[in-house]
Amino acid sequence: MWAELLPIGRRSAAGGYRRFAWTGADADCRAWFEQQARSRGLAHEVDRNGNQWAWLGDPAAGNAVVTGSHLDSVPDGGAFDGPLGVVSAFAALDELRHRGARFTRPVGIVNFGDEEGARFGLACVGSRLTAGQLTAEQAHRLTDGDGVTLPRAMAAAGYDPEAIGADPERLDRIGAFVELHVEQGRALDLTGDPVGIASAIWPHGRWRFDFRGEANHAGTTRLADRHDPMLPYAETVLAARREAERAGAVATFGKVAVEPNGVNAVPSLVRGWLDSRAVDQRRLDAVVTGVERAARARAEAHGVALDVARESFTPVVEFDHALRDELARILGKDRDTPLRVPVLGTGAGHDAGILSARVPTAMLFVRNPTGVSHSPAESATEDDCVAGVLALADVLEGLACT
Ligand SMILES: [Zn+2]
Repeated sequence: MWAELLPIGRRSAAGGYRRFAWTGADADCRAWFEQQARSRGLAHEVDRNGNQWAWLGDPAAGNAVVTGSHLDSVPDGGAFDGPLGVVSAFAALDELRHRGARFTRPVGIVNFGDEEGARFGLACVGSRLTAGQLTAEQAHRLTDGDGVTLPRAMAAAGYDPEAIGADPERLDRIGAFVELHVEQGRALDLTGDPVGIASAIWPHGRWRFDFRGEANHAGTTRLADRHDPMLPYAETVLAARREAERAGAVATFGKVAVEPNGVNAVPSLVRGWLDSRAVDQRRLDAVVTGVERAARARAEAHGVALDVARESFTPVVEFDHALRDELARILGKDRDTPLRVPVLGTGAGHDAGILSARVPTAMLFVRNPTGVSHSPAESATEDDCVAGVLALADVLEGLACT
C-alpha cells in the first residue's frame, strides 16, 4: 500500500507532500482508496461531503465500528500524518481476516476530506460538515489563495457542491470511531512505548494582533520620533514565550504581515497571529491574557495602537471515557508481551475531535521518534507501524467480533 501511495503528490526537491483538497493529487489518493476497498470486496461510497467510506457488512444495520483518518496534507507535509491511519485500517482488516475473525458489527474505513485545511484555511471541512459544525452556506464561502471557491473546486473535481451539509443519519449508524494517527510530539518516544491512547485534545485558538503605528523613512526619522509597531510586536513575541513557559502551555507567532513591508521604511502596521494551546481552559486563558496585557503595555510605550481579535477557538475535547477504557483493557490483555499503552493528551486537532461531539470516539497514536510533524522529517519505524496495525486489529476485534 505504501509503495503505491508514496509517490502521490510528492514534491521531488524537498520530499514533502502537497495533497490539497480537490486537486489532482487528492483525486489520485481517492482513486487509491477506492481501489483498496474494491480489491478487498468492500462496498465503496462517497458521502454528500466528499468523505470516502469502505464497508464490510451493511452500515444500515447500525452500531458500526469505523476507523480511518485522512489522506490530504499540509504544504510540504510528511508521509504519515493521515495516511498512516488509512493504511493501518486496511492492514488491520487484512489481519483480522487472516485471524478468521467473525464480525458481529459492520466495520467501516473512512478517508475524511480536507482535514488539514491547507487550501481553504479551515481544518476538518469534511467531518465538520458531516457533524453539522460547518453549514453549507459557510462552506460555500470558503475561498483558496487563487480565489477559487470550495463549490467551484468540488465541481471541478467531479463532485456536487449543492449536496453538502449535515449528515446525521450517517453518524447515527456509527457506534464507535477509532482514529489511528502518527504522534505529533515526543511523548511516546520519551516513555519508550510504540502505541498510546488519546485522552483529550487541548483547547486551542488563534488570535490576531494588529499593531498600528506610523510609516516613515528608515534613514531620516529620529528614533525618538518614531511610532514603530515592530517594536511592541517583537516584545509581544517574547512575552508569548514567557507566558507559555509559565503556564506549561505552548504559544506561537508563526505568521506575520508587515505594511508597507519595505526594507527602508518604518512599518505602519504589523499584524501577527498567535496560536496557543494548553492542557486546560484556565491555563490557556492565563497565557492569552498575559500576552495581551504585555502587548498593550508595550504598544502604549511606543505610541502604537493595538487591536486584538480572536479568529477561532476550539474548546477542550475529552474523548469518550468508556471507549478509552475499553481500548486500554483490550490492548492490555492476554498478549505474549502485554502492551503498555500510555494515555496522552494532544495539542493537535483531528477529525476524531470533531466526531466526538456526536459519536463515541477514541484515538491511537503511533510513536514518532523525532516528534516532528507537518514536515518531511515526520517519521515512524516499520516495527512501530506494525505495532499500530496489530493494536488497531485487536481493538476492532474486541469491539466488532465475537
Ligand atoms: Zn492528521
